[in-house]
Parts: sequence; C-alpha cells; structure tokens
Amino acid sequence: MKLKRKHLILLSLGIVLTGSLLLLALRNELSSGKTKNIILFIGDGMGVTHVTAGITVNKVPLNLQRFPYSGFSMTQSADNYITDSAAGGTAIACGVKTNNGMIGLNPDGSVAASILEVLHENGLATGLVSTSSITHATPASFIAHNSSRGNYEDIALHFLNGSADVFIGGGENHFRTRADGRDLAAELEEQGFDLVYTLEDMKSSASDKLGALLAEVHMPRESEGRTGILEKMTKKAIEVLSRRKNGFFLMIEGSMIDWGAHANDLDYVTSELIDMDRAIGVALDFAEKDGQTLVVITADHETGGLSLTGGNADEGEVSAHFGTTDHSGSMVPIFSYGPGAAALSGIHDNTFFFDTFLNLLKIRN
Ligand code: MG
Ligand code: ZN
Repeated sequence: MKLKRKHLILLSLGIVLTGSLLLLALRNELSSGKTKNIILFIGDGMGVTHVTAGITVNKVPLNLQRFPYSGFSMTQSADNYITDSAAGGTAIACGVKTNNGMIGLNPDGSVAASILEVLHENGLATGLVSTSSITHATPASFIAHNSSRGNYEDIALHFLNGSADVFIGGGENHFRTRADGRDLAAELEEQGFDLVYTLEDMKSSASDKLGALLAEVHMPRESEGRTGILEKMTKKAIEVLSRRKNGFFLMIEGSMIDWGAHANDLDYVTSELIDMDRAIGVALDFAEKDGQTLVVITADHETGGLSLTGGNADEGEVSAHFGTTDHSGSMVPIFSYGPGAAALSGIHDNTFFFDTFLNLLKIRN
C-alpha cells in the first residue's frame, strides 16, 4: 500500500516534470519560428498598475495572462520626460524620438517613415484599428506626417496614399465634413476602397481594401454601448488582412484607457482595459492557429500616475490613487506571443519596436 502510494507520487511528479518540459519546448518552439504577421496592440496610457487593476476587477484571468514573454518600454520623448501620445506613437511606429505633439516626423520636421509604410511598400497587407477617431494621435503616427496632432483633416488626407489597406475606427467627419469641401470617402472609393459606416456593412464587406468609419469622431465608451465592438473590429481586420499571401501588420488601439486615467476614473480605466483584452483574445486565438503570427501588447505611456492602495482579489475590488490627471514617466509593459516573442523581453526604449519588427520579418528598410 505504502509502495503503491510512493509510486503514484513519483508517477505524478514524472507527469508534472514532463508537462513542464513540454510547455518549455512549446514556448521555445513558439518563439523561434518564422514571423510572417505582426499584430500590435497599443493600450493608450496603460501602465503596469492599470493591468493589475484590470486583472483584479475581472477576477477570471485576462487574455493578457496568456502571454509567455513580457518586458518594459521606456517612454520619454525627444523634448520631454513625459511623452504625449503623438511622440509616443511616433516612437513606436517610426523608431524615432520626436517632440510632443508631432506625428511621424523627426524633431527637425523631416519625415520619418513608419513601420506600416515600410511594410506596405514591401508587399505586406496593413491595417489600423482604433476606438478613437482613426485620425487621432496613436493611429495617425502610423500613417501620417504632421507637425501638429490636432490637424485631423490634414491627417485624414494621408489615408489616400493607401498605406493602410484596412482602417476601422471613428473619424467620419474628418473625411467627409471638411473645411476644404472634399469628400475623402468618395476619393478612397475611387481608389478601390470599400467605405462603410455601420458594423453590419463592415461585417458583410468582401473588399480587400476596407475603411470602416463607425463614428463621426470618437466611438462611445465601453460603458456607454461599445462593449465587445473592438473585438468585432479586430476580427474583421484580421479576416481581411490574412487573405493576403505576403503576411500582414495590424495595429489595434484601445484608446480610452488613457481617457479614463486622465479622468482619474478607475472604473473607466478597467472597463476599457478589459474590453481591449477581449480583442486581444481574438488576436491570440488567430495566432495560436496560424503559428506564424507575433502578437505584441504595449502602451505609449502611463497615464494618471496610478497606484493601487488597497483591494480584495476575491471580491474583485481595488482602491486607487491617481498622482496626476496627465501622463507620467513610468515605463510601460510589453507582452509578446508567437515567433520572435523572446526578442521583446527585457527593458527597451520605445523606439526599438520598429527595428525589432523589421528584423523579425527579415525586411531591410
Ligand atoms: Mg491614442
Ligand atoms: Zn493622454
């Protein structure tokens, strides 16, 4: 009897060890194959404490907890220890430090090519998805070049060059109700894009070039009717882009984590973070099946100087203290999954994404 029990324990130990080794092998296997596609999520303003609060409030594990690798990104801009989303987005998109407020430009005003543009020139399909206006600083950094993030109608003009095969977000007014009287939606249609304005039309579109403008400016908050919609936008973007043989690059932004933190409203922060996590689940499920897709989650900066001063993990409760209604200088998390994921671990400057992505895709700029 005693012997049997001992055998059983040894057997269990063997199973656990084998399981761990298999998991380790799987993890290495996953991080070492060829990188064909990249899906990048930017949680605007999402610091480590925002993620901690999201995990606590959600109680059941987030998709963010499925990532095998993690790291950190330092977010300082060229002219300020505290970056804004324009310089933060430009650093990630173009691999250069610029001044706050500037989109896709070096501090001297010269154009910095973005990862989206370089990859599009190299034959990859490209896409941008955002819950804010698609002309807002974060997505704008990937497609536009402008000295001021507030020039939304000028930024919308950059979509005409076609560097983004798919764009889904708000911002209809910046394309169709413009001071110059142009209807960029009609111009994009002439260039072969399908422009749609509802989720139903987005879903049924069969075009390989798709622009879905789902709000006049920004989309509603998650708590005001947007629940699960980012998930649908993500699913559609992946569906369209993955048809292409040469691979794809897709940036998806959870814009309003930042806005909740500016408002020092923890419920706003966590509801937006948890909603972005649903979209992350869609991307991870695709990547798991596909096997050639790198999924990376990061932020452009931390917002709110958020600290967690108490809570109860069982009850899903957390109490917060915000140190500022602006951004802070804290480094932000990176989570990565798939071929090349190990290259993202460690502490990096926010400019490192650009070269790292090109290297992994084996594309020379
Ligand atoms: Mg943003
Ligand atoms: Zn902000």
